[in-house]
Amino acid sequence: MSPQFDIGGQVAVVTGGTRGIGAAISSALLEEGCIVHAVYQGNAAGAQSLRESCAAHSERLFTHALDVANHTAVESFWSELEPVTPNGVQILVNNAGIRRDAIVGTMKPDDWQRVIDVNLTGSFAMSKFAVLNMMQRRYGRIVMITSPAAHQGFQGQAAYAASKAGQQGLMRSLAREVAKRKITVNCVSPGFIDTELLADLAPEQKAEYLKLVPLNRFGTAQEVAYAVLMLCSPRAAYIHGTTLEVTGGI
Ligand code: NAD
Repeated sequence: MSPQFDIGGQVAVVTGGTRGIGAAISSALLEEGCIVHAVYQGNAAGAQSLRESCAAHSERLFTHALDVANHTAVESFWSELEPVTPNGVQILVNNAGIRRDAIVGTMKPDDWQRVIDVNLTGSFAMSKFAVLNMMQRRYGRIVMITSPAAHQGFQGQAAYAASKAGQQGLMRSLAREVAKRKITVNCVSPGFIDTELLADLAPEQKAEYLKLVPLNRFGTAQEVAYAVLMLCSPRAAYIHGTTLEVTGGI
């Protein structure tokens, strides 16, 4: 497909960018002509598989093992990026996310903390260094991948829902802070998307979720990527501080 979003040559950082929705976003950005830095936590095989599927763009794809919940490591990542990106970073997609589901009464404090650390604090850390980078050049696009759980809540997903609601609060505050520098900040909220994140759900649970979707199917990672790219376009300059739902009508 020929590029549609006027972002060729821009530098993008995508967290969780080697698998699932993140891999689809990285691939779509590469197709648009971006230079993509895809961050993943520990799944080297996933990174290798993205490199293979995007071999046609290998000179513009860089993969980095980085725990976004580790603030010091995030700071080092941005410092190391600076000399290799002389024109700065234009796009950050905070997509890395985990679920550790349990009802509140049985949830382990460590599980609660890890979900908040990765989904929310990781988005804060990556956004903090991204805006410092983008402010110098007075341009940027930040997109956070949140979830309908943020406002609906789902049984057993208190930590996940709280982290995603927190991400939306972070997005709205940050949007006000950086508006003068022409950096837009938005969320994309996917509904049920068929990725490994949902692989551990029981078939009965999946069937129950499907009943909630008016379009009567789960979405694809590519359909989420399309929404992200639209928000990353220079033409989306007036879409700011909002959440775009990609849910099939939930
Ligand atoms: P996935 O499990 O397939 O991919 C998650 C990615 O995040 C992986 O690449 C993993 O390496 C990375 N990651 C996890 N912890 C990390 C860390 N500490 N540091 C860096 N990277 C880390 O999940 P997915 O379905 O592709 O989900 C992507 C995003 O979309 C998540 O934020 C998720 O909450 C959100 N989301 C997914 C769905 C869905 O139905 N799949 C629905 C709504 C929102």
